[in-house]
Amino acid sequence: ALLYRVDGWGAPYFTVNSNGNVSVRPYGVNTLPHQEIDLLKVVKKASDPKSSGGLGLQLPLVVRFPDVLKNRLECLQSSFDFAIQSQGYEAHYQGVYPVKCNQDKFVVEDIVKFGSGFRFGLEAGSKPELLLAMSCLCNGSPEALLVCNGFKDVEYISLALVARKLHLNTVIVLEQEEELDIVIDVSKKLGVRPVIGIRAKLRTKHSGHFGSTSGEKGKFGLTTTQILRVVNKLQQHEMLDCLQLLHFHIGSQIPSTALLADGVGEAAQIYCELMRLGACMRVIDIGGGLGIDYDGSKSQNSDVSVAYSLQEYACAVVEAVRLACDRKGVKHPVICSESGRAIVSHHSILVFEAVSASSHDSPQISSPGLQYFVERLTDDALADYRNLSAAAIRGEYDTCLLHAEQLKQRCVEQFKEGSLAMEQLAAVDALCELVSKAIGASEPIHTYHVNISIFTSIPDFWAIGQLFPIIPIHRLDERPAVRGILSDLTCDSDGKIDKFIGGESSLPLHELGGSNGSLNGDGESYYLGMFLGGAYEEALGGVHNLFGGPSVVRVSQSDGPHSFAVTRAVPGQSCGDVLRVMQHEPELMFETLKHRVEEFANEDGTSSTTALANGLACSFNNMPYLAAAASCALTANN
Ligand code: PLP
Repeated sequence: ALLYRVDGWGAPYFTVNSNGNVSVRPYGVNTLPHQEIDLLKVVKKASDPKSSGGLGLQLPLVVRFPDVLKNRLECLQSSFDFAIQSQGYEAHYQGVYPVKCNQDKFVVEDIVKFGSGFRFGLEAGSKPELLLAMSCLCNGSPEALLVCNGFKDVEYISLALVARKLHLNTVIVLEQEEELDIVIDVSKKLGVRPVIGIRAKLRTKHSGHFGSTSGEKGKFGLTTTQILRVVNKLQQHEMLDCLQLLHFHIGSQIPSTALLADGVGEAAQIYCELMRLGACMRVIDIGGGLGIDYDGSKSQNSDVSVAYSLQEYACAVVEAVRLACDRKGVKHPVICSESGRAIVSHHSILVFEAVSASSHDSPQISSPGLQYFVERLTDDALADYRNLSAAAIRGEYDTCLLHAEQLKQRCVEQFKEGSLAMEQLAAVDALCELVSKAIGASEPIHTYHVNISIFTSIPDFWAIGQLFPIIPIHRLDERPAVRGILSDLTCDSDGKIDKFIGGESSLPLHELGGSNGSLNGDGESYYLGMFLGGAYEEALGGVHNLFGGPSVVRVSQSDGPHSFAVTRAVPGQSCGDVLRVMQHEPELMFETLKHRVEEFANEDGTSSTTALANGLACSFNNMPYLAAAASCALTANN
């Protein structure tokens, strides 16, 4: 656990149990020891074949914990409640969840259900997101906010106004000045009084990767001049009372409470000014930005960490709003936040398997091999070889490495010219490895091939270098014997993970069960988990190489024998599903191939056409990932 810094990034939800497995604490600090869930047991339950009591799902697997989601929501709410109470703040906090962070039906429904006791609402950034937010909030608190952000056209605005008509507490936040004309026009046509918000472009700028959203040149929001024009226009249309919310978002992963307080303080001044200008302001919406400590370092100088707790975040927000409003004698507004990352990151874990490992340190060289190699060297190469041997005898390690490198280069040249055989080239590689190993110049780094697509499941690693904690989920009571990088299934050199939390370029890993690094030598799989990836990764991922989404299970704490119950299990996308995403038509493709089977398969009389056609049908239904055991393999005679 120490080696993988689990206590740093994992607390209070993830720990390591006495079996050396990752243990999930579904209620955070309130979890009792007997309520902890052994993640390996969940993976076995999900992936074991049905015949042995499992659910027969194929990996990779997303394991969702709704209890963790509930705990995150409750912790966020209670942090604000405490800050409000302790500072004598005279309004309440009511958050919204930005559905873009994870639009999964069950995630959104859970948030609405768990948050209905404290008026928790939703934020949408597009028309389909608005549709899903509208339908989910029909089961939420009537006071829950439905915040409409993003670029808007007539259709989007009409839909948001219809939502108001349906008594959903909808606020249309102007991100572009032009949206106001549409709101005025459509609301008059529909006979609906809109509630309007303004997204302000703050001067406060967050300097990290996620800060490009903020500052005067940021992509979103209205400048001071534009805000004043909006106020004037609303006044002209006798609609200034409709302006009730001020929104801003200075970027995700806000690194420190100092920066947060700076931004919130600036926004609170704008809020007070809007009150002075006659708007009926009620809510200050501080956007997202509540960060996650992905590497457990509690540092404010990194995109993957933050230097504050939930409580410190809430206190800083409440204080900044309170100070600004008290100074101007303005009634305290309702505080809304749009935290996405902080709500959903912890609730899901991506589990995948290492299927094989290769290392670069295995070449062997025998004495007869060396003699054969030396005898065939040209004079130049022989001189390099002799210099190398002499330096080794004198113990001059740097010189040794230099000569080894020269010898290798010369031999590669000779191979390209055709004067060196492949066996000799292999021998020179082995000799150079031997030299660098003998003098301790390099620790061999192994490549573990893992059964995922990084483009589908960890797209932010590829796109923006975002790091997530990735660790084996078992054998954590065993010292890892090697270090390795992870290489995925795609035919793409970017499909590898060679950067890990803590600035490491390799990960401590255990040796795989079988001989020569292959898996399943003793039937034991090696499972790894990617943690804190519940926000953004699922919706951002693509279908590069036509690898589709993983299987998913929902797991709740239960007082049964295993302390968990799988409440939902969904297999990942099949080959047919991903083909359909790219406009192929699996049914027609199957028909075409079936005709070919009927035409040719029986030519030599060895194949059953029915068996072949059935096998092909199975291929469309199987997942694109490597299967531990073929559910229905395509063979000629089955
Ligand atoms: N609100 C808006 C307008 C955003 O653009 C974002 C994310 O970029 C969020 C909320 C969610 O931010 P976070 O995930 O940092 O909480």
